[in-house]
Order: sequence, then C-alpha cells, then structure tokens
Amino acid sequence: MKAVSTPNYLAGYPISLVDQVHQLIAQDRLGDILLKKYPQAHTVRTDRALYDYVHEIKAEYLRNAGQLSKVEYDNKIHVIRNALGTHTSVSRVQGSKLKTKREIRVATMFRTMPGEFLRMIVVHELAHIKEREHDKAFYQLCQHMEPDYHQLEFDLRVYLTYLETTGKSLWSVEAVSSVDKA
Ligand SMILES: [Zn+2]
Repeated sequence: MKAVSTPNYLAGYPISLVDQVHQLIAQDRLGDILLKKYPQAHTVRTDRALYDYVHEIKAEYLRNAGQLSKVEYDNKIHVIRNALGTHTSVSRVQGSKLKTKREIRVATMFRTMPGEFLRMIVVHELAHIKEREHDKAFYQLCQHMEPDYHQLEFDLRVYLTYLETTGKSLWSVEAVSSVDKA
C-alpha cells in the first residue's frame, strides 16, 4: 500500500528480534529505551571536529593506511539508499608517484546522534580502507577498533527504524547546545 518502498534497516536480523523492535515502537516505548541507553548526543559538530575525531581513531588502529585527504559531514548522503557513510579511494599518478586520495563522508544525520553511533560509522568507513567488502575480515577489523561494534550497529539500525516509523529524532542540536552552556 505504500507508494514508495522504504529501506529495511533490520533485514538479516532474526525475525523475533525485529518483531520485538516493532512492538516497542507500537507501544511507544522504544524512544525511552534508546534515550536511557544513549542519553546524550556527541559534540563533534563541525567538519573540522569530525576530521580530528576520525584521525584520532585512525592514528590508533590504522596508522600506516595512508593519509585521508578529506573527512566531512555530507547532507547528500541519503539514508533512504541505506548508505550511512561513504569512503572513496582514487589513485592517480602524480609525477613519478602513485598518489591515493582517500575521503570519508558521514551522513549529516550523524551530527545529532550519540557518540557511540558516530564511532560505529567512523570505524565502519575506516575499516573499508583496508577491506572493501563486508566480509569476515572487514567485521573483524571493525570489532578490533570497537569491540561493541555489532551491538552498536544493531542499536543504530533500531534507531533508524524508529526514526522512519515515527519521524521523530531523539537527539537534537538544541539539546546539545543547552548541555554545552550548562
Ligand atoms: Zn560498508
């Protein structure tokens, strides 16, 4: 009956678990559960702050993986296509050297999310520098950088499902600003 098909963020998870999520949304309980687990949005709001944030994690785990030429929030990344971030790697010859330009873009919606979700998406995109596919080696690298990776990805997908169903975001820039002033 829907005019447009919506992404299923929980595809691949056990049906009983997915049912539980939809039930909690129907009972208007999921928002409180998520807010209790993740009370605050992070403060990495500018592209400059995001650049530093990504570099800190990269320096710890992927020091030798080459330079990142660009890191930024991108409002053209639409979660509707189920892409939360992108990473590009373009190699070109410059003089006698082969230069690789790597960029990481994070969907702007992550600006107003808990730090745990930002970390999850950053770890995901950083892992792609070394592993292109979503295979075992890729997820092992994600878990190496963030031991809670799988739980965080699930919780993020739960939130995206909530957001899509209710249209209400749980964390806002306003809330972050007032916390800042306090
Ligand atoms: Zn990916």
